Amino acid sequence: MKVFKFGGASIQDAASMQNVGSIIQKHSQDIGLIVISALGKTTNALEKVIISFFEQQNPTAFQLLEEIKEKHLLLCTELGLSQAVVTELEDMFIDVEWILENPPLREFNYYYDQIICLGELLSSKIISEFLITQGIDNVWVDVRDVLRTDDNYRAANVNWAQTQQLVTQKISPLMGKKLVITQGFIGSTDDNCSTTLAREGSDYTAAIFSYCLNAAEMVIWKDVLGVLTADPRLFDDAVLLPNLSYEEAIEMTYYGAQVIHPKTLQPLQAKQIPLRVRSFIHQSHEGTLICKQTAPNNSLNLPPVVVVKPNQTLLKLESLDMEFMDEQKLAKVFQLLSKSQLKTNMSQHSALGFWVSVNTEADKLNVLKTILPPYFSLTVTEGLKLITLRHCSPDLIQKYIGNQTVLLQGNSQNTQQWLVISD
Ligand code: ASP
Ligand code: MG
Repeated sequence: MKVFKFGGASIQDAASMQNVGSIIQKHSQDIGLIVISALGKTTNALEKVIISFFEQQNPTAFQLLEEIKEKHLLLCTELGLSQAVVTELEDMFIDVEWILENPPLREFNYYYDQIICLGELLSSKIISEFLITQGIDNVWVDVRDVLRTDDNYRAANVNWAQTQQLVTQKISPLMGKKLVITQGFIGSTDDNCSTTLAREGSDYTAAIFSYCLNAAEMVIWKDVLGVLTADPRLFDDAVLLPNLSYEEAIEMTYYGAQVIHPKTLQPLQAKQIPLRVRSFIHQSHEGTLICKQTAPNNSLNLPPVVVVKPNQTLLKLESLDMEFMDEQKLAKVFQLLSKSQLKTNMSQHSALGFWVSVNTEADKLNVLKTILPPYFSLTVTEGLKLITLRHCSPDLIQKYIGNQTVLLQGNSQNTQQWLVISD
């Protein structure tokens, strides 16, 4: 039994939905469960709704939501779905409209998760109903009935024990009998509040199901051929990696390779479930197979990999009292960074200073700015990108780094990193 995942790019309009339908048709004997993310750029559009709502710009929030509704209902018409389906989707919108009608009383992240989940609920419903019109029987499952998390909104942590129990109880009996269509990215707390697993989290959802259902394979369908040695939009010498170990793939995604969500690989690796990343456009291509490699993982047989992580901000923290950055102070630094939820990507320290490259996220930086002053001073440099090279020769380093202005540099076995000014 396989678990498939389709991302937003594969289901952005009627033609691409039909393409996905034909892929599912072709593989229907093997698939047990399909994880769907929101259509095209719907999650970004919903983020705008949430921001307007939180800034109490309600007419704008409603207007933006209306645009999302029109797009989805138009798609239903184009796919020839029934009025009953349209009514179901409209009801999903009503749940969000109710939230928008009252002023926000709780924190931003809570409302974010209650509203953003609409995207996946809509897209999965449309796919499910469309497949039925194509003669592919399936059952639509609200993932919030099975995927339990804590209430760390926007970056919720999976409660594995409860999730496993609910999957065993509600999903396993369907395997081999009914194809299950469900949503990626979202989950729920014990109190039935919606949560999310962080942006692009649908890959992770598919891995959670693969783990809990002991899938034979997980397949992510993408608009690229598979995992490449670099982002082909940035480097024309990027080549496909037909095979990859879990370890190498984990390293690549950790440093920012966007092809798979970083948390996806651990659950798969734990049960040795192979992950195939392949193209929904070039379907005859096998893509990349990530699995346990038998050959030893020495750098000689690993291809050079380049990963560019844009939108980086360099933070320099200095102790206020000229005291050394000793272990206690460093522990405090990481405690404060963790509290702010800033994502740290590379760090270094000296006698009096600590440098860290974090993802540029204004709201989280503001949190840090409020909790830092009693302990450290802060200097912020924005507009940077982090380049990570793995298994690269000096020639390749020269090629990829050249004369760029370097603000921070790190070196560990097989991995070299440069924080440079973005062009
Ligand atoms: N729809 C969500 C996002 O765009 C989750 C996903 O696509 O994986 O981040
Ligand atoms: Mg996506």
